[in-house]
Amino acid sequence: MNIHILSPDVAAKIAAGEVVERPASVVKELVENALDAGAKTVRVETQQGGKRLIRIMDDGCGISEAEIPLVFARHATSKLTFIEDLSRITTLGFRGEALASIAAVSKITVVSRPLNQTAATRLCLEGGQETSLGSAGAPVGTVISVENLFYNVPARLKFLKAEATETGHIYRVVTHYAMAYPQVRFSLQNDGRTTFQSNGSGQLFDALVSVFGLETARQMIEVNKNDFGFSILDFGLGEDTQSKIQNPKSKIPSVYGYTSMPALHRGTRDQLIFFVNKRWIQDRSLNQAVIQAYHTFLQVERYPVAVINIELEPSEVDINVHPTKAEVKFQEPRLIFKKVQQAIREVVVAASPVPAYQMAHAGGGQSSAWSFGGSAPSNSTLTQFGLDVQRTLPPEGENRLLIGLPMMRVIGQVQQMYLIAEGPDGLYLIDQHAAHERVLYEKLSAQKAKMAVARQQLLEPLVVELTPGQAAMLEAEQDALTEVGFDLEPFGGFTYRIRAMPEILGQAEPGQALIDILAEMVEGAIPLAKEVHEKIAITVCKRGAIKGGQILSPEEMRELVRQLEATTAPRTCPHGRPTMIHLSLGELARQFGRL
Ligand code: ADP
Ligand code: MG
Repeated sequence: MNIHILSPDVAAKIAAGEVVERPASVVKELVENALDAGAKTVRVETQQGGKRLIRIMDDGCGISEAEIPLVFARHATSKLTFIEDLSRITTLGFRGEALASIAAVSKITVVSRPLNQTAATRLCLEGGQETSLGSAGAPVGTVISVENLFYNVPARLKFLKAEATETGHIYRVVTHYAMAYPQVRFSLQNDGRTTFQSNGSGQLFDALVSVFGLETARQMIEVNKNDFGFSILDFGLGEDTQSKIQNPKSKIPSVYGYTSMPALHRGTRDQLIFFVNKRWIQDRSLNQAVIQAYHTFLQVERYPVAVINIELEPSEVDINVHPTKAEVKFQEPRLIFKKVQQAIREVVVAASPVPAYQMAHAGGGQSSAWSFGGSAPSNSTLTQFGLDVQRTLPPEGENRLLIGLPMMRVIGQVQQMYLIAEGPDGLYLIDQHAAHERVLYEKLSAQKAKMAVARQQLLEPLVVELTPGQAAMLEAEQDALTEVGFDLEPFGGFTYRIRAMPEILGQAEPGQALIDILAEMVEGAIPLAKEVHEKIAITVCKRGAIKGGQILSPEEMRELVRQLEATTAPRTCPHGRPTMIHLSLGELARQFGRL
């Protein structure tokens, strides 16, 4: 072994990797710095998904001429001096490593002017080395330009995704901070096109309109739980917290924001957005708190839209537990969970009509289930799933199906999610959603191969309002969307007109379906054009397929299994997950100790 100390250059690049994963991480750090500097306006410009250029302009306090050379030194910060300061910190930054890290892997220029200087200072670095220093004319504030990110770290460069994907990540960062700081005016330009603007009115609702569009924002309800509406003592908290409750000056945890009415929901969790003391964070347990608040209001695999601010004493939350500070650790996680869940549940229940529960019999007394506000499945719902039973229904009483697989007899449905079938060698559990995805995928692939994709022409074209991120994705992938059966045309701004949609989407609401598909595409990483087409086909099938939580009649179950049998790969869904699990007779005997 040859142990040696890394050269400063290599060490700096490695350290940078922790903070700067992709262009959006640079945008996050620079936007946070602008906000910490008290900016009222933050403008973000990018070129080529941020790979070519990222520029952030703010009207904050600026950096003095004397201090400018310091900002790129590692551990140089104006926000913290003693370790104890960490528990009082109210700024977004405090480690003093972002600018040093970004500078190590790019060409960076800062032009900054505080109020008491008549000219700005301009400093350029390349790969962390100063290349020029001088003065320049500029308004009060700071402009930081980052060019050719990762030019000297080819491994990182290689892993960057398509420009549209990187732009999508940047868009998320900017829009999320616009919601955390509604009093700040944000704008985002990608390749010269303004894709986002907030008005800085100070109203969270206005920020929601700018991010989600008016239609969506209108379907959201305010959550505002500033009082301590339930007994904190119920949660077995320490004396420290209890004394704070008695002390009116201390900051009692509060939950404020907006959450969707049950009619508004999404196919992914990415619109569950949380800020803790105005810091955008990710937290699975908070996701869960919101999802649970909608219990019985939403179908399985449908998620609400929520933008929630949690405010609490800085000492109640550790913000120094994650390299990019994207996660935090609460001192009282159970309390926060409960508080968020209750605050949301209260407004959701208040905004919902009295639920009409009814017993829905899945026919023939074979199985039954409770459905929320639903009705017993009838043959008219069959076509909704593209299962044309009129055409293929087996004769009355005939429920034995011949499948490539062995002969199976469908027995029933479990948890409105899995079908149980019996075969000559034991039991099959079939995932109804995965199975239907496979069926639709092969149907769509066959139609695509014949260049005859079936569309549903809408009687009235439908206008749908997209977020700028979704609109950018639609523009980028219009061909692939047309190929699977959408007929879309621009209708001004970020609105589009849907004239037709893929037939396999069944009776899905076209606007909602398009939004779900675009949201799913924005999330995914799609490097090659061919894969884009494939991914869109898979996404459309996923959206069109029967969901978990849907009650199927015996005919529907049989038809689904029959159609699955006709596919070329009945055992997996297009994502590669299994459609079925087989419990053989031998296995059953072993489990019951009969062998
Ligand atoms: P941190 O934010 O953790 O302090 P950074 O490396 O991000 O570390 O920034 C270093 C310092 O540079 C900050 O503490 C701040 O004093 C100064 N700075 C950075 N960006 C700005 C800005 N946009 N306006 C004013 N000062 C800034
Ligand atoms: Mg910082």
